[in-house]
Amino acid sequence: MSQPPAHASDNCIFCKIAAGQTPSRKVYEDDEIFVFHDIQPWAPVHFLMIPKMHVASMAQVGPEHAGLLGRMMALAPGLAAEQGCNPYPEGGFRMVINTGAEGGQEVHHLHIHVIGGPRPWLKG
Ligand code: 5GP
Ligand code: ZN
Repeated sequence: MSQPPAHASDNCIFCKIAAGQTPSRKVYEDDEIFVFHDIQPWAPVHFLMIPKMHVASMAQVGPEHAGLLGRMMALAPGLAAEQGCNPYPEGGFRMVINTGAEGGQEVHHLHIHVIGGPRPWLKG
């Protein structure tokens, strides 16, 4: 098991998942992005995409993050298809970024929900 990087936030569950210190069902990993299945999926496909670096939320994002966020967005369609989302336009998927308490964010490490697969879903 590797140590979390120096910029990891102490006691951040998603930093620990990205570092392999807390187990998860991994979907994808590269040097800056980690993708894993949500522990409480509410659709047949429900995974989370996170930057390995600790960014608390979209509220902390600035121009310096544009490349990273663009790469995360661009990865999503291929991973969604691999994980069982049906083809557009009959299929498709939803991408959600909850931000802050009023935005419904519970884990304060930036993450993109990718949700899809045949309906019905548990919610949404
Ligand atoms: P938020 O409400 O912050 O947008 O979403 C947090 C998501 O993280 C929830 O859907 C929740 O099920 C998921 N989650 C929370 N803790 C863990 C964990 O330890 N492992 C995994 N795989 N997912 C988690
Ligand atoms: Zn973190």
